[in-house]
Amino acid sequence: MSKTTRRAFLLGTGAILGGWATRRYYTDPIPAGTLIGTADGKPLTLNDASELSPTPVAKHITITDKFDAASIDALRKELKEATAERRPVIASAARHSMGGQSMARMGTTYTMAHEWIELDKTNLTYRTGSGTRWSTVIAKLDVEGFSPAVMQSNNDFGVASTYSVNAHGWPVPFGPMGATVKSLQMMLADGQLITCSREENADIFFAAMGGYGLLGIITEMEIEMVPNARLEPTFTQVDPLNFGPTFVQAIKGTPNVQMAYGRMDISIDRFLEDAMMITYRPTSDQSDIPQAPGSGWLSKRARDIFRAQLGSDIAKHGRWWFESSLGPMIGGGDTTRNTLLNEPVITLDDRDPTRTDILHEYFISPENFGSFISACREIIPSSYQELLNITLRYVQPDNESWLSYAPTDRIAAVMLFSQEKSVRAEEDARRMTENLIDAALRLGGTYYLPYRLHARQDQIISGYAGLRPFAAKKRAMDPGNLFRNALWDSYIAKA
Ligand SMILES: Cc1cc2nc3c(=O)[nH]c(=O)nc-3n(C[C@H](O)[C@H](O)[C@H](O)COP(=O)(O)OP(=O)(O)OC[C@H]3O[C@@H](n4cnc5c(N)ncnc54)[C@H](O)[C@@H]3O)c2cc1C
Repeated sequence: MSKTTRRAFLLGTGAILGGWATRRYYTDPIPAGTLIGTADGKPLTLNDASELSPTPVAKHITITDKFDAASIDALRKELKEATAERRPVIASAARHSMGGQSMARMGTTYTMAHEWIELDKTNLTYRTGSGTRWSTVIAKLDVEGFSPAVMQSNNDFGVASTYSVNAHGWPVPFGPMGATVKSLQMMLADGQLITCSREENADIFFAAMGGYGLLGIITEMEIEMVPNARLEPTFTQVDPLNFGPTFVQAIKGTPNVQMAYGRMDISIDRFLEDAMMITYRPTSDQSDIPQAPGSGWLSKRARDIFRAQLGSDIAKHGRWWFESSLGPMIGGGDTTRNTLLNEPVITLDDRDPTRTDILHEYFISPENFGSFISACREIIPSSYQELLNITLRYVQPDNESWLSYAPTDRIAAVMLFSQEKSVRAEEDARRMTENLIDAALRLGGTYYLPYRLHARQDQIISGYAGLRPFAAKKRAMDPGNLFRNALWDSYIAKA
């Protein structure tokens, strides 16, 4: 079997390294989301990747050009006008958050789509527009022999939104992406344009890192990069109840691991009873590293295998066999760091208007991870929710961001559910989410904020020690509550 065919097969069985599936949403010509209702004078309605967050907005402004003096003035004018009219404002990029975090109800929603990059090869950094997508970052860095230090599993997202949710990825041994940001420019509610870094306005820098756009609008950023590398995988079968310590040992105890993830068997009759760990290390030959393809074509092949799992335990068994047995046998070919990162979410579309794919994520310490898996074995099968994938990641401690979800080493359990778009399914999902968050909190862990807003208020307070200080900081910096989204309205405003 040729190398590319082996990779396609492997990725197909693994349902793409990030493990995400997507919907028609991603094929929308307006990448920032569906725009409905312009013709009859009704408010514009934006939605996000959940397809469950229709939000009426007063204005939708897309920024496509690099900010200059005139567009900075226009931004300032818009903030002033919105303040006078008591309209909220929020910035967004690809709107792949799933609970209205990227939209301002009856306010102004900005879509940042201004993409530019300037590399500083001496300092291993690049300056970039806040709306630049990771696909563009990879394309520019790849030809120069560099790679993003940390980004999510897919390349569709904006760099400032990645910092604003403080996303993690599967490059190791890193913490969340904020740790790799050197500085940024941000416009505050009063129209000041400030620089934030660890040296300048450090309190704002750390509060805005994972601050969901609630402190201001980021216009540009300076971010670290690392050399690109040719990598080869190692596949290891692991006892799920011992996955946490085994995974951390493999990452910290083995030299040069650059990328790492895990997967679990989700077939119903062997639910979470088997796990695989996949680690990537540089090959001995680092010469002539090939350019990273936009590997969406691989995802297309993966789609059918991935989607066949819906409602079929046979297909789930088949996929796990591919992933745990055939994959390791045929998938040992080398690849590049940028190739692994350059994966779009577009091609796993479920093509079913009655369903949507919803992500969940829970962060648990390695030593308690086995107990969390035991709890999941109880909670998920009885929830009426259709789990299609679990990907596991390592997250290094983050003691910088105020809303940190990883104060110590964490294993991230990323779950992808296919959910019916119905009131009943939403209620089932809410119940299951509350139970999973309770289990995570009991074990000293927490959950991730960019997805559905199904947590109870007491759960966000317990899970985020920095929530109240963050709310106080936001009120001090933005007393008129200009920057608002559903996360603020639903929880933080009440903290
Ligand atoms: C398929 C898929 C895969 C994912 N993979 C991962 C993963 O591997 N790891 C992970 O950690 N997360 C992952 N996520 C979650 C993802 O990182 C977040 O949803 C992220 O916000 C998506 O980026 P976006 O450009 O769509 O952000 P948006 O949803 O547009 O915005 C997210 C937040 O950033 C704020 N924001 C955006 N731009 C600015 C700006 N210029 N200034 C100030 N604030 C701003 C918004 O106000 C909002 O609160 C995934 C999500 C999906 C749907």
